[in-house]
Amino acid sequence: MQCRVHLNDDAWTDWYFEMEMLIGGTWQRAASGQAEDVTSPYDGAVTGTVPVASADDVRTALGRAEAGAAAWRRTPAHERMRILLRAAELADERAGLTAEIISAEAGKTIAEATGEASRSGDLIRLAAFEGTQLYGDALPLDANRGTGLDKLGFTVRQPVGIVAAITPFNYPALLVMHKLAPALAAGNAVVLKPARTTPLTALALARCFTDAGLPDGVLSVITGPGGSLGEALVTDPRVRKVSFTGSTATGEHITRIAGVKKLSLELGSSCPVVVLPDADIDLAATAVAAGGYVNAGQVCISVQRVITHPAVGADFLDALVPKVEAIRTGNPRSHQTTMGTLITAAEAERVEGSIRRAVDDGAKLLTGGERDGAVLTPAVVAGVDPRSPFSQEELFGPAVAVSSADDWESAIAQANGTPYGLGAGIFTSDVSGAVRAVREIDAGNVHINWTPLWRADLMPYGGLKASGIGKEGPRSAVAEMTDVKTVILHGRPW
Ligand code: NDP
Repeated sequence: MQCRVHLNDDAWTDWYFEMEMLIGGTWQRAASGQAEDVTSPYDGAVTGTVPVASADDVRTALGRAEAGAAAWRRTPAHERMRILLRAAELADERAGLTAEIISAEAGKTIAEATGEASRSGDLIRLAAFEGTQLYGDALPLDANRGTGLDKLGFTVRQPVGIVAAITPFNYPALLVMHKLAPALAAGNAVVLKPARTTPLTALALARCFTDAGLPDGVLSVITGPGGSLGEALVTDPRVRKVSFTGSTATGEHITRIAGVKKLSLELGSSCPVVVLPDADIDLAATAVAAGGYVNAGQVCISVQRVITHPAVGADFLDALVPKVEAIRTGNPRSHQTTMGTLITAAEAERVEGSIRRAVDDGAKLLTGGERDGAVLTPAVVAGVDPRSPFSQEELFGPAVAVSSADDWESAIAQANGTPYGLGAGIFTSDVSGAVRAVREIDAGNVHINWTPLWRADLMPYGGLKASGIGKEGPRSAVAEMTDVKTVILHGRPW
């Protein structure tokens, strides 16, 4: 497809985005001069070039961020909101282009990429509002024995200073925005390190903020290898908050090296769905046929495991398999394609291998699991042992494992029986069962009569157990990206 896009003021390109990175308001190359290609996982086409930064570039960005944070925290909330609202308008105006970039670099279908890109503007608006709501508490100090009415106590919220934001490949706009927008709204400077496979979207979104008038120093976006750049960012004492979304392994590593600073970690998962005998089976199958395969299953809240009661297990599979077989793989840019690629051919190979091993261990492949490069046909695997790696380890691919549980106790035990606890769904027509699921399933988000693959951007969102620490969503993120200061005014007894 020949489509010309206007990215810079002076350069028209044919699906080729030659981008500089953003260091404290200046678009520039890496200090080393190194750059690398960003390629489409579908056909290997080069979609752009970005700088390969080093730890030196990180230190430069942090130096600029110190000045930026100092200026931005002195900027009144109404002025911060004005700039963010302008950035939101620009994000809306550019949503079509952003979608094209997402689809090109991540292999996401154009329909899904359009849905993702179109959320940026509203997310910035929600965060901008929350940034104006930094209320504190009045402290009833005289209720504490030994203090009287001569003192006044209250709390104030202030920005933490510099936030390091590190994001994964699977939602290159949404997950970037869930960090940038609240961090900036709360008055912080941000240094963002997007995933190496999907840096173009992050750079395009950053441009909305700089074009909206964000002051110099406040935002940097550094592109290059996560190991060295991430390490330089996370360990630097000037960073007061690390907001990380990615794998549990990298998240655990960050907890070991970060030192004393605030951490939010949105990590991996193996999300369960429980289908009880009184469930609407067609609804459950429809929801799983979406929730297991959106973005080729590369979603932290993707349905990985379905736990059915034996009374409805066969009916559920009969309803599910044709719906999954109706999913169309192919060129992500085609509107006919309903499931895109995995992020790389190597990732598709990994998922294909996991499906094969599950089958070797006795599970039954009912459909899918065939690979062509980074494309893997959507799979349903039945009779999966809940203790097997196919259930226990995060799959992050387009396959759903179906197992059965004879009673409520064992269904809950299976649902809770992995190291993770991000999202869960339960299908039932019985309100008591729903209440019990809410109480007993250990997951950060529990959905009744839908799968965990559902998110409204304003809701508190985050995992339990190995799925993470802290919550995102604009209100929660603004709270986590600010510090509470307690102030006591000492009068004299009268
Ligand atoms: P990774 O953990 O591999 O990478 C995430 C980010 O961390 C990337 O920007 C990566 O850079 C960077 N990184 C790599 N090494 C380090 C390091 N040593 N220190 C600091 N940063 C580092 O995850 P993926 O990109 O593969 O994303 C998939 C994972 O993200 C899945 O586990 C998924 O569940 C999770 N996720 C969780 C969500 C949640 O809300 N709980 C939402 C979405 C995804 P580089 O790309 O250059 O390697």
